[in-house]
Amino acid sequence: MLGQMMTSALTISSLVDHAARYHGKTEVFSVNTGGGIETTSWGEVGANARRLGDVLTKLGIEPQSRCATIAWNNRRHLEIYFGVSGAGFVCHTINPRLFPEQLVYIINHAEDKVLFIDATFVPLVAAIRDKCPHLEHVVLMEGRDEEAAAKIEGLKFYDDFIAEGDAGFVWPEIDENTASSLCYTSGTTGNPKGVLYSHRSTVLHAFASNLKDCIGNSAMDVVLPVVPMFHVNAWGTPYACAMVGARMVMPGPGLDGASLVNLIDTYNVTTALGVPTIWLGLLGEAEKAGSKLESLTRTVVGGSACPPSMIDTFRDIYNVETIHAWGMTEMSPLGTANQPLAKHGDLPQVEQNKLRENQGRPVWGVEMKIVDDTGSTLPEDGEAQGDLLVRGHWVLDAYFRKTSDETLTDGWFDTGDVATIDPDGYLSIKDRSKDIIKSGGEWISSVDLENIAIAHPDLANAAVIGARHEKWDERPILIAVKAEGSDPSAADVLAAFDDKIAKWQIPDEVVFVDALPLGATGKVLKRKLKEEFGEVLIGK
Ligand code: ADP
Repeated sequence: MLGQMMTSALTISSLVDHAARYHGKTEVFSVNTGGGIETTSWGEVGANARRLGDVLTKLGIEPQSRCATIAWNNRRHLEIYFGVSGAGFVCHTINPRLFPEQLVYIINHAEDKVLFIDATFVPLVAAIRDKCPHLEHVVLMEGRDEEAAAKIEGLKFYDDFIAEGDAGFVWPEIDENTASSLCYTSGTTGNPKGVLYSHRSTVLHAFASNLKDCIGNSAMDVVLPVVPMFHVNAWGTPYACAMVGARMVMPGPGLDGASLVNLIDTYNVTTALGVPTIWLGLLGEAEKAGSKLESLTRTVVGGSACPPSMIDTFRDIYNVETIHAWGMTEMSPLGTANQPLAKHGDLPQVEQNKLRENQGRPVWGVEMKIVDDTGSTLPEDGEAQGDLLVRGHWVLDAYFRKTSDETLTDGWFDTGDVATIDPDGYLSIKDRSKDIIKSGGEWISSVDLENIAIAHPDLANAAVIGARHEKWDERPILIAVKAEGSDPSAADVLAAFDDKIAKWQIPDEVVFVDALPLGATGKVLKRKLKEEFGEVLIGK
């Protein structure tokens, strides 16, 4: 017997419609690429999204065509997110920090028909335009700009472009399993691979992320997604915020600590989301500027392991709760979030704090398991370490233009991470399988060593890699950046590991550098470090 309830498709257009109708006056603050901050609202974002949907439809672009963006987090980008997907096209966000050849590869692989760009990327796009035969329209996300027009033939201007559209445009009815957006993984190995999200997966992901045990946005919040909109849809933040009518602060191109502290203090941001490297800059700047980050109640940190020392600083100095979350492009991205259980309330505070350090437990909708080399399931005892597999409503079934058989193993997706899971489901990521250090048959977690090093007051940042070793195959070495005004010796730094970790796991060497190489999404590029320092122990 079927239930007798109404059904309608779970669509992205329904999110922006809700925000525009019930939170129409709720502000969206946006830093413009050319400078200055504008205040708009969910009502205006919703109307412009419809105008854009109307124009794209009238241009005769086929449903499901990819419309790409190379852009910062700003209100026009938000409108494009909803307008493109809502009208039945696929919003393909592109990471501008990729190499030009990778950009060309991605644009051609996706067969993008339309490309929306911020002014910053005019030279970049001018250089590759001719190599992208499918591109029919390039739209600058601003008003008319003659200088840019001279650089890209046929360039259109967003403000004029959508002015032709009707804010009364009616969204097409679409199947909820239709593709809505596309994001390529950074492609640290081989060509980037596309992950094609659906309306349904996106809406369910937004629901889950708004649970109190996950990120828990509400209409009372002012949300600052520092995580870029070209990185897994800014972790789904625009959709989640539209669902509850949260105010948003779109930071534009300035992601330095000083700009972020200023935005937080000016707009009374309550929730900010980003990768740990961004928060290192922010905390340094807040201290310098004497800001107490008064309005901020929580930060969501993910993308790479959040050092416990950062969680402590946020809590003890700024009274900010850190929600350590784990996920990946292939998972939309949310897999786990660290929130406590009722039973933890009886524990001493230090133990409660300790429990907040790992990557947390699965959100409803995601299942996980760890397996050994033969694929056998390992116990979830917090000790056994294995390859982490996942499945769920917003986990990919197949990479774009590939089959499920080429992507999954027995219906599970292999994350490429090595982890432990405890009996309550709390996940502790030990490493990416390719970064784990194999020393004389034993495994050493680079993440554990980095967490100790980053807590050192004389270091600004640190990364650990496995360097080749004649006897042990690999040994850990620490690549460290000194804190401003500090000059620690290698021995000073290594002393921090005493009593915190088994002696044989302590790094063999410390190499000081001015800065760590960061990848397209702000994560430390271990591959580069390995190329540069992977042989330093040979012949020693
Ligand atoms: P890529 O960096 O390849 O573009 P993603 O951005 O999707 O891919 O990154 C996913 C990976 O980032 C995860 O598989 C994991 O290795 C790492 N990661 C994400 N969040 C965390 C976290 N909280 N702790 C440790 N590692 C994390």
